[in-house]
Amino acid sequence: MGLVTLREILADTREKHYAVGGFNMNSYEDSEGMVMGAARKHSPIIIMTSMACVKYVGLKQLVGMIRGMADTYNIPVCLHLDHATDIDLIKACVGAGYTSVMIDASKKEFEENIAITKSIVDFAHTYGCSVEAELGKLGGREENVVVSDSEKAYTNPEDVPRFVEETGIDALAVAIGTAHGFYKAEPKIDFERLDAITKKTTCPLVLHGGTGVPEEDFRRCVKMGMSKINVGTQLKKDYTDALRKALKENPETEYDPRPFMRPVKEACAQAIMAKIDIFGSENMA
Ligand SMILES: [Zn+2]
Repeated sequence: MGLVTLREILADTREKHYAVGGFNMNSYEDSEGMVMGAARKHSPIIIMTSMACVKYVGLKQLVGMIRGMADTYNIPVCLHLDHATDIDLIKACVGAGYTSVMIDASKKEFEENIAITKSIVDFAHTYGCSVEAELGKLGGREENVVVSDSEKAYTNPEDVPRFVEETGIDALAVAIGTAHGFYKAEPKIDFERLDAITKKTTCPLVLHGGTGVPEEDFRRCVKMGMSKINVGTQLKKDYTDALRKALKENPETEYDPRPFMRPVKEACAQAIMAKIDIFGSENMA
């Protein structure tokens, strides 16, 4: 069915009380596993690539490969550029066939964040590509983007309506207590803030930093109106754990790479299926 935009894939999430998972990929094996897992659950899926992933795999390879998977598995797949700060890279991804990009100007002042985000929306929408933006600053580490505890800031609900209206974005990433990477202590989600934000806008909301968030908290966020939940770090761990195990279990005389890589695919498929159960997107394809 080709790739679908973020706007389309999230269109009825709030009304039907489910969220679509945004999963960070790094190679062929994990992305294939993810789409395979989503297909088994008949769920839509958002495949996310960091700027570093685009450089690692290659832009044309990514678009061709993920589009091929969407066609093969016949479920709605959105190809999304995660946390982009490089305007040239965003434009290259939009031009190459990405169906969603995230402009992350959250480190800028409010007015500048609006101006930069709006310029990306104006550009991307002419190509039929969706845009996600962030308001507030999420803590933690995302590839090479590091936000210290003193820099992080929760999303102010009062800022939301103007930001959404003036930029024309398709989804809004909110900072409500989650962080990127592994948590040192269990995250404390500010549900009151989320409630206030959902009352201020109908724009689909995005929760970043999904690794290590307790299952009940995910369910509560989805029930309250969260439309997209991002998981990255957990999948990197599942990938490398599966690969290490396969390397240990196979004889040292085994030189065919496939017996090592197949378990990676399956581990990623299983991880996605478990998240789909929590996010409620089964049978929503
Ligand atoms: Zn993020």
